Amino acid sequence: MDRLLTGLQPSGNLTIGNYSGGIKQVINYQNNYETFLFVPDMHATTVTQDPELLHKNIRSAVGVYLACGVDVTKPNMHVYIQSENLYHANLSWLLECHTYYGELSRMHQFKEKSKLHENFTCGLFTYPVLMAADILLYDAKYVPTGIDQKQHVELARNIAERFNNRYKDDYFVVPEPVIPSIGAKIRDLQDPTKKMSKSTANPKASVFLLDPPNVIKKKIMGAQTDSEARIAFDEENKPGVSNLLTIYSVFAEMPIEAVVAKFEGGGYGDLKKGLVEVLSEKLTVIQDNYNKIMTSGIIDDALDAGRDFTEKIAKEKYETIRKVVGYGRI
Ligand code: ATP
Ligand code: MG
Repeated sequence: MDRLLTGLQPSGNLTIGNYSGGIKQVINYQNNYETFLFVPDMHATTVTQDPELLHKNIRSAVGVYLACGVDVTKPNMHVYIQSENLYHANLSWLLECHTYYGELSRMHQFKEKSKLHENFTCGLFTYPVLMAADILLYDAKYVPTGIDQKQHVELARNIAERFNNRYKDDYFVVPEPVIPSIGAKIRDLQDPTKKMSKSTANPKASVFLLDPPNVIKKKIMGAQTDSEARIAFDEENKPGVSNLLTIYSVFAEMPIEAVVAKFEGGGYGDLKKGLVEVLSEKLTVIQDNYNKIMTSGIIDDALDAGRDFTEKIAKEKYETIRKVVGYGRI
C-alpha cells in the first residue's frame, strides 16, 4: 500500500474548509492507502497559543477526525500527535540545512501571515520545512490538502529531490499533493476573495464543524454574495455565490453542475436556505458522533497506538538520514 499523509493544525476549531480540503479526502482514500493522519501541534505554535486551549483543541481535533468517519479500527490508519514524536523536529533541523532562505521567502502563506503580526516568529518562517519533515519521515507519496498548501508540498518535493541528488540515492520518496477538484479553496463567508481559515478573527467568516444549526443558519444567511441576483458558478466574477454552490456540492456529494441546475432561476435566499439544510443535517450527524467519542476512551487508545507505530518508522528513517549527512560517530 502506498502511503498517504496529512494533518490539520489545532490552531482553532476545524472548519468546513478543513473538512473539504483535508478530512473528506482522508475518508475517501482511507481504504486504499496506508494513512498517516496527525495533529500538527508544533505548527500551531508558529503563532501565540494559549496552552490550555491548545491541549483542548488537540483532543477536539482528533474527536472531529473520528466523528467525520476516520476509521481507527483499520490497521492501515495511524492517528498521532506531532509533538509526541521527537523525530519530526530533528529531521526538520537537518532539512533546514538543505533549504534556501530564498525558497522560504517565496512562500505565500508566510507573506500573508507575517503581515498579520507586528512581530512574527522564526517558526512562522521555517514551518514549511517542519512540514516537509512531517511528510518525508514517513515516505508518504500522497499528501491530500487544499490549494493553500500546494506550495508547501512542492517545497517538500524540492527538498526531497535536492537531498536525493546531493547524496546520490533515493533516500526520500518525492511526495505529491492531492487537491480535490471541487472544494480545494472554500472561501471566507464575509470576504469571498480570501480563503476560509479557522484562525480568522471574524467568527462570521467561517462555519465550524461543531457549530449548532442556529449558528450555521445565521452565518450562511449572512454570507456575502453580489447584487446580480443570478445563480451561476463563476469563481472569478461571482466568488460569493460560487462559494455557496461549492459548499453545497461538497456536503451534499453532488456535482457542481447538478447544484447549479437545482437552484438556477431562483434567488440567493433559496440557495442559502438549501445550504443551511444540507450543512445542518450533515454536521448534526458529525456532532452526535463527536459527543459520543469525546466521552469514550477511544481517542487516547488511538493516539497511543498511532504514536508507538509511527515513532518506530520515524526513528529508522531519521537514523538513516542523519548518518547520510555525517552526524554523529561512524
Ligand atoms: P490556520 O488559519 O490556522 O492556518 P486553516 O483553516 O488554514 O487554519 P490548516 O491547519 O492550515 O487550516 O490546514 C489544514 C488543512 O485544511 C490543509 O490541508 C489545508 O489545505 C486545508 N484547508 C484549509 N483551509 C481550507 C479551505 N478554506 N478550503 C479547503 N481546504 C482548506
Ligand atoms: Mg492554514
